[in-house]
Amino acid sequence: MTKKRTHLPVQKNERLEVTFQDLTHEGAGVAKVDGYPLFVPDALPGEKADVKVVKTGKNFGFGRLMERHTTSTHRVDPPCPIYHWCGGCQLQHMDQEAQLSLKREQVINALHKYMGREDIPVQETIGMNEPWAYRNKAQVPVAERDGELIAGFFAKRSHHIVDMDHCLIQGDQNDAAIQVVKNILKRYEIEPYDEASGRGVIRHIVARNGRLSGETMVMLVTNGEELPHKKKLVEAIRSEVSGIHSIVQNINKKKTNVVYGERTEILWGEKYIEERIGKLRFALSPRSFFQVNPVQTEVLYEKVRQFAGLRGNETVIDAYCGIGSISLFLAEEARKVYGVEVIGEAISDARKNAKLNHFPNVEFSVGKAEEVVPWWRAALGVEADVIVVDPPRKGCDEKLLQTMIEMKPERIIYVSCNPATLARDLGILSDGGYEVQEVQPVDMFPQTTHIECVTRLVRKIKER
Ligand code: SAH
Repeated sequence: MTKKRTHLPVQKNERLEVTFQDLTHEGAGVAKVDGYPLFVPDALPGEKADVKVVKTGKNFGFGRLMERHTTSTHRVDPPCPIYHWCGGCQLQHMDQEAQLSLKREQVINALHKYMGREDIPVQETIGMNEPWAYRNKAQVPVAERDGELIAGFFAKRSHHIVDMDHCLIQGDQNDAAIQVVKNILKRYEIEPYDEASGRGVIRHIVARNGRLSGETMVMLVTNGEELPHKKKLVEAIRSEVSGIHSIVQNINKKKTNVVYGERTEILWGEKYIEERIGKLRFALSPRSFFQVNPVQTEVLYEKVRQFAGLRGNETVIDAYCGIGSISLFLAEEARKVYGVEVIGEAISDARKNAKLNHFPNVEFSVGKAEEVVPWWRAALGVEADVIVVDPPRKGCDEKLLQTMIEMKPERIIYVSCNPATLARDLGILSDGGYEVQEVQPVDMFPQTTHIECVTRLVRKIKER
């Protein structure tokens, strides 16, 4: 049982000296006062500072930095002028080396906290040579301020939009496309959407770019079917956006934070843009998920390939397959690959991509992995040698983990974007007879606190 606190070790408005030990997911420094965590923005591990307590809760409190007494050798000037307001990046004030080791530490801590293990090898995080301008997709909310259209990013912990002229982690072509479209919308006086009243037209500007193909897609998310000056807008976007290949309108009439609505209409050009990862070509439709950092995606997938250790005669399952990118990456070296994904549109893309790359040995199904994989096994007699999972933040469904344990593949490759649920699931797989051999963090999201890693598990041979 944890001991109940009778009174807190700090009081509101108190000023005290602390030393920071860690960072939160939002990038705030964490200092402990008699075991009570205080979260303070703009503080780095190792730094000593005077802070003022601004808020206290039962289990943690918040402080403001008053005076820094020591400065971390890893502190750098954040290059982005709106870094302190924008909620997009959290680690620009930390150098690359420290960002990479922080991410590795957080994986190690999660394995310890949620799995009770300290002996699993966690490799050094693989970073990018040039950790800027890496994103292939910009999804920018639009609003009105002082009668003008602004487009930018949500401020930290809020729904207030910070206007943005330039985003340093966005690919150059996308970054430029957003500004060009913003100016076109201003020129034609298109009314921005207002969250509070539900009135106005433009909710989001989205730009996606195929890094190697150079193809750009612009999507306008609107509050209804109507888009004033549609023809002229399309003409202007066509002539002013570099690499333009596709212009689409997505209609979202709902009063919701969800960005996209169900209906998408092509206003001009192709339905898809192309992206390439390694030798493979991928057609991306407007709403389908694709990894946002194509350079590091190749590094990540190469690790998956290496961990899978295929020799050409294996059956592979790729669960949570999105548009089938890992499936296709492994298809050349496998006898057969089965992919499953819950979004139908992504599976249509996956099938198209299998054809585009001439792989007859992959098969895709729409559905929940935890339902489709047991069905493949029961109805089709599928036996897998290797299973790859790449679930969303909440991790794998327990039923899928149990099915995997029963199917006894030789190897499991677990791609994860959340060390906490990764550790929880590795605990279950480890109890089910798998040895966790190594974890490889790959920095897919430089300047942010997001962590991605690939884990290799091998079945322990049991005597019967
Ligand atoms: N492996 C892909 C996509 C990973 S993102 C890639 O590398 O690009 C995780 C995917 O899991 C998303 O496409 C999401 O739609 C899908 N998903 C979420 N819950 C699911 C479930 N229960 N069963 C199958 N797919 C699911």
